Amino acid sequence: MDRWLKDFADQFRRTKIRNRPYRNAAVSFRRCAQDDFEARARLARAVGLNTFLFPADRIPGCDLLTDSGTTTMTMDQWSQLLLGDESYGSNEGYFAFKNQIVETFGPAWENRDRFVENTFIFHQGRAAEHGMFKVLAGLIDARRAKDRFLIPSNGHFDTTQANIEDNGLEARNLFSPELRRHDLKARFKGDMDVRALRALLDDPAMRRRIPLVYLTITNNTGGGQPVSLSNIRAVRRLTTRHGIPLFLDACRFAENAWFIRHHEPGMAQRTVPEVVRLVFDQVDGFHISLKKDGLANIGGALVVKEKSLFTERFPKFRSLLSDHQILVEGHPTYGGLAGRDLKGIVEGLKTVVREDYLTHRIHQVQRFGARIQELCGNKKVIMSPVGGHAVYLDIDEFFARTRLKDSDLPGIALTGLLLIAGHRLCELGVYAFGHREQGREIPPNPRVNYVRAAVPRLTYEDQDLFALAEVIAGLYRQRDSLPGVTVTHGQDLRLRHFKSRFRFKSERS
Ligand SMILES: *Cc1c(COP(=O)(O)O)cnc(C)c1O
Repeated sequence: MDRWLKDFADQFRRTKIRNRPYRNAAVSFRRCAQDDFEARARLARAVGLNTFLFPADRIPGCDLLTDSGTTTMTMDQWSQLLLGDESYGSNEGYFAFKNQIVETFGPAWENRDRFVENTFIFHQGRAAEHGMFKVLAGLIDARRAKDRFLIPSNGHFDTTQANIEDNGLEARNLFSPELRRHDLKARFKGDMDVRALRALLDDPAMRRRIPLVYLTITNNTGGGQPVSLSNIRAVRRLTTRHGIPLFLDACRFAENAWFIRHHEPGMAQRTVPEVVRLVFDQVDGFHISLKKDGLANIGGALVVKEKSLFTERFPKFRSLLSDHQILVEGHPTYGGLAGRDLKGIVEGLKTVVREDYLTHRIHQVQRFGARIQELCGNKKVIMSPVGGHAVYLDIDEFFARTRLKDSDLPGIALTGLLLIAGHRLCELGVYAFGHREQGREIPPNPRVNYVRAAVPRLTYEDQDLFALAEVIAGLYRQRDSLPGVTVTHGQDLRLRHFKSRFRFKSERS
């Protein structure tokens, strides 16, 4: 090689800013301007500082309320939508979806039994959870059990927990002890506490109460932190020894696989699709919200491995689930989705395991987190290391040594202030997870107090996220003079963070 070409190549490889692995194929202009500060302040007040109720088209900045269903679809997905087959029974998308399940998760997920379905389509993840736990609870007669049945997990998502509890079972979180430590080297804080699981399973009285164990990848309730393959295997060994089935809540399976490939010892030579199969080899079934790593705006599924501990233990489950699905979603071959949705999801499942996509996606979330830390001059203001889909602001740290107490709901105050600046985040802390008992506030136990910035897939550029980081840093500098909030409506309600209204303590009602 010529000397100049070699120098040029060296130079080139050292460039720090990499281009995105895609380019925009369509854009949507904002209807409102960055400068409408006073208008947003009035509007925020009118909706009682409830972020869910603030009109989306009045947000000129980053709408990071959730990464669920907010994906920007690819041109390939849009083209598949046009090719949707809207037949009532056995549309093309149904077969394509079942084939893609086998393609993505491995041959063990094939439906060989011609008479019993193994792939159940739902309109979103929680509908799959609802079917899962309703049918399971019926099979084990959960409501009449003397001691409540129990579903252990590394961290149940809030809708999973609600569906478990609604059916008379108990949801128990066995968070990794590393989760709460500020340790930058701990790469898999989403792991299940295997010692805690062993303690449960070694006790015969406890073990009888456990029909199923769950792992959520990545661990959304635990800061979006990844779960290691070695942890999944350890949980599998324990559950197999006691004949207990293991399921995944697989919403972010591709992001989780990327973390395993890049951070777990011995995995560097594997591709993401290989890692996905290694993970799914370990389990008996999974449910998934396709609004996350399905790269789609709607969809969910529950898939059962035909030859597994689960089908051995619950042979009637699948046919009962089909009945449930027909009652609430529609024929099992479309399950509450249009035929075109299924085609878009199939294309999304192909894209989501691309190395270039995932690297860009996860690095972008990490750059956003690093920017907040840098501008605030405090590394502890966010949960570190940053997980796959979101940056979690640590509210206890953010407002440490200020006059604001839990009763001032500083997390809610922060999301209200950010709305006025044109950005939408979500409180997941003492208000969302706490509750009221006999007029007293009970904070979540174990304590969690975060404001989450969930980054939609393929939607924002770094510049958008950095603009938000700057606003957050400005509020951090001003933290000693920021107001708390009072609840004006809904403090006693169930799922209250969706419904409550608040006002800043400096304002008259
Ligand atoms: C989003 C989510 C769900 C629920 O899925 P929806 O499609 O929103 O109903 C369940 N579990 C986890 C981990 C999630 O992130």
